[in-house]
Amino acid sequence: MQEEILKNVREKRVKYIHLQFMDILGQVKSVMIPNIMLEKALSEGIVFDGSSIAGYATIDESDMRAVPDANTFQIMPDDPKTATIICDTYLPNGKRFEGDPRYVLQRILKKAEDKGFRFVTGPEFEFFLFKMNDGKPSLEPNDYGGYFDFGPVDKGEEVRKEIVGIFADMGYKPEATHHEVAPGQHEIDLRYGYALTIADRILTLKAMIKRVALKHGLYATFMPKPIFGINGTGMHVHQSLLTLDFEGNKFYDPNGKWQLSDIALHYIGGLLKHADETTAILNSWVNSYKRLVPGYEAPVYISWANLNRSALIRVPAGRGIKTRIELRNPDPAGNPYLQFAVMLAAGLDGIEKKIEPPEPVEQNIYAMSPDERREKGIKSLPESLGEALHHLSRSEFMKNILGEHIFNHFLHVKRREWEDYRAQVTQWEIDNLLPIL
Ligand code: GLU
Ligand code: MG
Ligand code: MG
Repeated sequence: MQEEILKNVREKRVKYIHLQFMDILGQVKSVMIPNIMLEKALSEGIVFDGSSIAGYATIDESDMRAVPDANTFQIMPDDPKTATIICDTYLPNGKRFEGDPRYVLQRILKKAEDKGFRFVTGPEFEFFLFKMNDGKPSLEPNDYGGYFDFGPVDKGEEVRKEIVGIFADMGYKPEATHHEVAPGQHEIDLRYGYALTIADRILTLKAMIKRVALKHGLYATFMPKPIFGINGTGMHVHQSLLTLDFEGNKFYDPNGKWQLSDIALHYIGGLLKHADETTAILNSWVNSYKRLVPGYEAPVYISWANLNRSALIRVPAGRGIKTRIELRNPDPAGNPYLQFAVMLAAGLDGIEKKIEPPEPVEQNIYAMSPDERREKGIKSLPESLGEALHHLSRSEFMKNILGEHIFNHFLHVKRREWEDYRAQVTQWEIDNLLPIL
């Protein structure tokens, strides 16, 4: 594999290689090396200061080693002098670093595989394109198109075409792309695949969307709710458990209720049971909670349904190999490795404990009164980052999945964000309270 990469680099005259990974917040980190350093990097990795990466390490344990995963080597089709490769992080003593989000996902995937399940995911990736103003992002959308708009109304088409084209050239199988509901809002859907591969592709996609947008003089953002009063930005995750050879679908049972297997129903049961604790990872910024409000196609209540899009979990129509569930609260601003890991862990726990999900709720839950919801036993998702962190902090289940290192660092970093944010006096208070108080 290493030989093949080195040969490829020589023959295709690649000059620069970005070694990449993601911090616990979901930001892409990268160090660039010239081609002559690649052989050494592939065999030994490259040392970096972990204490300068959000959530990675403290000053006294700062020497980390990023070791490239040869499977992820990729020449950038739009910049063929440059290649990227995604890294795993190791401690100086040669052990895997507990604080590496990719390791969290790899661990839980292995656990699933020991039980005969291959976890596959297919994300719907949304983002806004805003005009730039003096080199800074503005809140002015790049167009005034709406859902599935086309042609002159949809000014994002060129940008989306370019991104999807590059992605397809990489062999990464984008499935569809379209204008989303809000002005300036766009979506790219990735074809489902092995969850680790898809998390790696999200890393690549996040960096690429920003880069291509900038080339067109636009700012791309994954901020979950940049503008009050219109749809926010989500990352619905379609997911299933397949057989180890990817040929069979463990969620499908032609004789089951709704043609779903017990495994699928228990998986849903687990996701719903752990919805409180997992939300801080799936919706990890103070702004994430501005999206999870009624009326904008984002979930607010802990429930599942076959068709109804106000539910947290929906079961799309496909059956057979396509049998899947769609989790609707994650947003693209978080860390996909941790997001996939906690979804899978919650589902597996449901399977292990045979957790029966409640009855699906097919009515529009936004339209129900609080009493109706109480009668049906429908609870709300956490309403703020503070509330979500509270649930996370009390969860042994989450501590186990994330490992103590990430669990503690995540809580530390995010509590600071929450404390800083909640002390702000907002424009809403000035407009609504100052005149009357
Ligand atoms: N943008 C919506 C959200 O916040 C999702 C809309 C859709 O894809 O149906 O989750
Ligand atoms: Mg969408
Ligand atoms: Mg969807």
